[in-house]
Amino acid sequence: MAICPECGSSKPFFARRCHACNEEIGFWRQTIAMYVFYSTVFIGLWFVVASAASMSFQWGILLFYVMWVAVPLLIIWFLIFVWMLIFS
Ligand SMILES: [Zn+2]
Repeated sequence: MAICPECGSSKPFFARRCHACNEEIGFWRQTIAMYVFYSTVFIGLWFVVASAASMSFQWGILLFYVMWVAVPLLIIWFLIFVWMLIFS
């Protein structure tokens, strides 16, 4: 099961249209939304567990999240922004 990036309800991963909000969700948009969702959940959980176990904030895990989720997302957002500027 995947999650619709528009309304947050669960939808089949390969369904092109969300049955809840009727929004058309492309393959890449769905994939990126799932990557962000699951990496946020798992890295967030990892951060909480590791911080609780060591009794100190594990900044390295947050840095890992920034490097592998936040920065790639910013790059994708920027590329889409430039793409829109050129082709519209
Ligand atoms: Zn939806």
